[in-house]
Amino acid sequence: MVSTMDTLTIRTENKFRTLVTKQAYKKGEVMCAIPSENIMDKPNRYTVQIARDKHTHVGKLAALNHSCDPNVILDTENMLMVARRDIAKGEELFFFYPATEWEMNAPFICLCGATNCIHVVAGARFLPLSTLETQYLSPHIRELMIELLNNTELHLKNLQEA
Ligand SMILES: [Zn+2]
Repeated sequence: MVSTMDTLTIRTENKFRTLVTKQAYKKGEVMCAIPSENIMDKPNRYTVQIARDKHTHVGKLAALNHSCDPNVILDTENMLMVARRDIAKGEELFFFYPATEWEMNAPFICLCGATNCIHVVAGARFLPLSTLETQYLSPHIRELMIELLNNTELHLKNLQEA
């Protein structure tokens, strides 16, 4: 059964939560469903953005930390968590927060150490397209990004014509 999170376990150390897998996964494998019973219109630390004005309370998955080189993808189109690469039993799971979050309510500094680290994790709207292009992005993030680029172009055009 795809929707269970039985293979995932939350570890707490010094109040810092991590999500760890009790089994290995192959790249592309579905790991669990993303909960969607509790949808709200504003983000908080337990939500993942699934559409322009929709944030779903993700339960256990709220313990997923951010990485700029993540091992899981939150596929908000199919509401599934998928392995981004082969994952070993006991590994901590991470996803790239700006892949789903347009504007986060609690930005932070990333110290993940990846060569492509974005450092300031505040949501997709604060990242250049070249950075976002290297990651899986949810459809609503693509849409909002295109909108932002179009608005900027229009603004620049208006300035030139003024
Ligand atoms: Zn990073």
